[in-house]
Amino acid sequence: MAPDHTKIKGVARTLRRVLEHPHVRFVGGVEFGTDLTRADLARSHHAVVYATGASVDRRMGVAGEDLPGSVAATDFVNWYCGHPDNTWDDFSLDAEEVAVVGAGNVALDVVRVLAKTADELRHTDVPEAVLEVFAASRVRRIHLLARRGPLQAKFTAPELRDLLDLPGADIVVRPEQVDIDLTEIGADRPGLRDVSRAARTNLRLLREQAERAPEGRPRRVELHFWSRPVEILGEDRVRGLRVERTRLTPEGHLEGTGEHEVLDVGMVLRSVGYAGVPLEGVPFDSGARTVPHEEGRVLDAGEHRCRVTTWRGGSSGAPAG
Ligand SMILES: Cc1cc2nc3c(=O)[nH]c(=O)nc-3n(C[C@H](O)[C@H](O)[C@H](O)COP(=O)(O)OP(=O)(O)OC[C@H]3O[C@@H](n4cnc5c(N)ncnc54)[C@H](O)[C@@H]3O)c2cc1C
Repeated sequence: MAPDHTKIKGVARTLRRVLEHPHVRFVGGVEFGTDLTRADLARSHHAVVYATGASVDRRMGVAGEDLPGSVAATDFVNWYCGHPDNTWDDFSLDAEEVAVVGAGNVALDVVRVLAKTADELRHTDVPEAVLEVFAASRVRRIHLLARRGPLQAKFTAPELRDLLDLPGADIVVRPEQVDIDLTEIGADRPGLRDVSRAARTNLRLLREQAERAPEGRPRRVELHFWSRPVEILGEDRVRGLRVERTRLTPEGHLEGTGEHEVLDVGMVLRSVGYAGVPLEGVPFDSGARTVPHEEGRVLDAGEHRCRVTTWRGGSSGAPAG
């Protein structure tokens, strides 16, 4: 969770109420697959719920992705949040220009935090050592890259508003990218026919922003829709990012236009989706990167693993899994 979303962090109180309920026993520091197996759990429980999240980030699959300075947004977030899984000791913010790839809320969180000063983060629970790095940050220009348009962006209006309200950054939206006539959508593009209320709100906010002239604030955030990374440039570290303009085909598929641009960035943060990792002894769909299931019940080669079709929690119970 973003450290500056202090209200949302209140969810910890709710989680605590659940975990401290007398019918709940919380056992921490236990790794499924290492400390115990599915068979161990099945021996002593009627059912097992796998809720292990989507813990690895998806890669962009472009050349240069492993160069120093090319980082998964989750690693960056773990670092600035002081997450126990953090593996970065000394992250530095010495690039003046940074690209954040992705159009979801995590990407917006990362852009917003990067555009803040150490003083703006001081009231949060960002670790002291991280605040020192933010105090020395050289980041001045941040590019947010979305491979589709404003109507397909996954971010939500509250997060977008938080970005647009930043006092220390100019948020630059290109007017031509938000000049979309909603009444015409879908006439020749079936992929765009259904425009959700959320997408309409995003579009309205972006349009209003596009009309505001930059005021020369200390930092500048540029939103690039219809842009996808094709190569991270550099030999010893990230020195630039080559991006290609994209468009939708009449059928609603994404395609490159062949027009390229190089952004002069020294760091690339990717936030292009997350995926589950296989759990020992539990079926895994390597395409969808999830546990295959039907309405929550685990499927093994298309079959239910549970022998009992309905289990209502009695002591005669179903085998776990
Ligand atoms: C940077 C960021 C900011 C976000 N901000 C928000 C926000 O403001 N609001 C919001 O609603 N959502 C937010 N989200 C999304 C939210 O975090 C996820 O939707 C949510 O955490 C998913 O919950 P989950 O329980 O499915 O998985 P997770 O929260 O990922 O929980 C899975 C748990 O399983 C554990 N685990 C994994 N493998 C094993 C194993 N083998 N053995 C034992 N334990 C294991 C993990 O350690 C973890 O504790 C954010 C996500 C990110 C990355």
